[in-house]
Amino acid sequence: MHARFESPLATLEPGLRAALAPMLAEPAFNGMLSASQVKALMNAGNLNEDDLCLALLPLAAACALAPVSHFSVGAIARGIGGNLYFGANMEFPGVPLSQTVHAEQSAINHAWLRDEQRLRGITVNYTPCGHCRQFMNELNSGVDIMIHLPGRAPATLSHYLPDAFGPRDLSIQSLLLDKVDHGYRLTAATANGLSTNDPLLQQALQAANQSHAPYSQAHSGVALQLADGRIFAGRYAENAAFNPSLPPLQSALILLNINGGNCLDIRRAVLVERDAAPLSQWDATCSTLRALGCGEIYRRTLEG
Ligand SMILES: [Zn+2]
Repeated sequence: MHARFESPLATLEPGLRAALAPMLAEPAFNGMLSASQVKALMNAGNLNEDDLCLALLPLAAACALAPVSHFSVGAIARGIGGNLYFGANMEFPGVPLSQTVHAEQSAINHAWLRDEQRLRGITVNYTPCGHCRQFMNELNSGVDIMIHLPGRAPATLSHYLPDAFGPRDLSIQSLLLDKVDHGYRLTAATANGLSTNDPLLQQALQAANQSHAPYSQAHSGVALQLADGRIFAGRYAENAAFNPSLPPLQSALILLNINGGNCLDIRRAVLVERDAAPLSQWDATCSTLRALGCGEIYRRTLEG
């Protein structure tokens, strides 16, 4: 079991703790609980799903990286089929605060990267900030997604974000979590680039093809490889209000962190993006990755 779970696990009721411990101890535990695992935990703890998610929040919050704020936020995204996806806030030493990740973004992005189709709700240990309320409004569940907070009655996003502005105001049809394949291919490699068959590059390409950029069409993906060989890929998630957009690097870092990886262990990274797009992720990606100690960073472009 990852050491970060030991303290919060010890605070759970004995029945729930006994059922959850072996799930967390699985080497393959990746921050997600399947619908069948959720049912088993509800039975073991004699809890309904709302109360189970609240009970699990300290474990999600234990995944936070908060060297600046020292304020750990945990979130659990709840899929339409019953899967639960952990998320936590992330701050990066030496990197501007605009590059941080909020817990709700982390949990939602995590669910998206595992190909969840739709979210029913999200459970968070603090009330969502305005940035996250706007980020959630990009989802294909719209303002109907339920928000669950400790000590409060569940309420829809429309309660927390009245008179919302979102993708529908801009006549956008494809929403966040809708399944897409943009069908891009890689342009020809340069002499000092990665081999087209490199799995790092292939995973970044796949992520770009599933990215959400209906406002700029600047689709992009990032793949990161750790010293132990594991690869984590992230997709760009654009937002109707622009600023809550989640860059592809942060998307990949969320998956890396929630899987128990260390952001300071990244050995190789690649960004793939459209060349003829109105914006580029390259400078921001390089800047944050260099602050994390990664010196081997590649860029490849997309066509098609
Ligand atoms: Zn937030």
